[in-house]
Amino acid sequence: MVDYLVVGSGLFGCVFAHEMAAKGKSCLVLEKRAHVGGNVYGEEKDGILIHRYGAHIFHTSYEDVWAYVNQFVSFNGYINSPVANYRGHLYNLPFNMNTFRELWDIVTPREAREIIARQRAAVQGEPQNLEEQAISLVGQDIYEKLIKGYTEKQWGRSCTELPAFIIRRLPVRYTFDNNYFNDKYQGIPENGYNSLIEALLDDKDLPGSIEVRTGVDYLPVREAYAGQAGKVVYTGPLDAYFGCRLGRLEYRGLRFETERFDEANHQGVAVMNYTERAVPYTRTIEHKHFMRGNAAIAEKAVTYVTREYPADWKPGDEAYYPVNDQRNQDLVAAYRARAEKEENTIFGGRLAEYKYYDMDDVIKSALERAAQE
Ligand code: FAD
Ligand code: UDP
Repeated sequence: MVDYLVVGSGLFGCVFAHEMAAKGKSCLVLEKRAHVGGNVYGEEKDGILIHRYGAHIFHTSYEDVWAYVNQFVSFNGYINSPVANYRGHLYNLPFNMNTFRELWDIVTPREAREIIARQRAAVQGEPQNLEEQAISLVGQDIYEKLIKGYTEKQWGRSCTELPAFIIRRLPVRYTFDNNYFNDKYQGIPENGYNSLIEALLDDKDLPGSIEVRTGVDYLPVREAYAGQAGKVVYTGPLDAYFGCRLGRLEYRGLRFETERFDEANHQGVAVMNYTERAVPYTRTIEHKHFMRGNAAIAEKAVTYVTREYPADWKPGDEAYYPVNDQRNQDLVAAYRARAEKEENTIFGGRLAEYKYYDMDDVIKSALERAAQE
């Protein structure tokens, strides 16, 4: 008998288990993959930390979350500044004075504002979808070259069928500033995210306990665990918990192809976005550039580059992104109503809440949920 049966060892499950063990409780963490950490898990090759489930850059403005993670690991001060590649021409991201200068050969913020103001006049009233939102933020040229192709391959649907909020994730600035995020704090754990997960799960000084079992899918064996725990903390897909009885939620999938090159520096930047539709991948990640401040790795004549291909998702595939259209939002509301009635069960994290959560939001919500216990 344990106090908490935690299903899933991503950030939500690990932070929650850590906090409950800190309160003297016993936790059993079940993880269906062969390793812990969920999507922040990394692998080391030739000393280079490979982000196995996509590039993860930690960024937050929550003081409490930043203080919390810094108890366990130190961050390397990496600042994300991706470059967009559109038909072989390079543009700085996010959309800022460098991008505007590269596109229009202008010099001042006023010139940039004038061009964008002219181009956004095409959209009247409140933007109703991603296309209208994008044009009203940055105008037609940027929409056509840097947003439309990328977004349509990423989400597998037209920009007119996608919600506006997805594009509002990106800053638009009239300064020469290539920082992809506006958050106060940013970086990557010096020894990778696995070291954060390990610190959360293997803290011998905690009064309670955490046992971890990998390679266990909870759903087919849930009966065997019935009555074995005071509460269940479920971080897997929401619909799967209910046997998909009300219908299936949809996700976007991803496929990663990693190549090793015998050279020190392949693309000169950690993240290059390919914004035209014709290139089948959305971005290429050169992992070593995330290891800011590590001169030995920077100079070493080997590097790994991962191409990230968006993919249609089918049951059984890894669920990467929730699809935020009306059908899925309605279905998720119906499942949430059921989840609220489920006794002694906590639903948390990006899969069980079906939310496009960043890591800091997941940590914050796990801390808040644990504090209520
Ligand atoms: P997950 O990490 O998905 O963990 C859930 C775990 O539960 C998984 O390990 C899964 O195997 C397990 N599980 C599921 N079902 C079962 C079951 N039935 N039985 C047992 N185990 C089960 N955020 C940022 O802040 N910055 C970034 O740069 C960033 N980049 C991203 C890039 C990509 C490609 C993606 C997909 C996400 C990115 N994120 C980023 C978001 C980040 O990955 C999430 O916010 C965070 O990892 C979610 O943690 P979680 O615990 O909710 O879910
Ligand atoms: N986006 C785009 N062009 C880019 C980068 C992003 O159009 O070069 C859009 C795209 O719709 C994407 C969204 O902005 O889904 C959010 O981008 P972000 O980098 O936050 O996506 P994530 O890292 O979560 O995949």
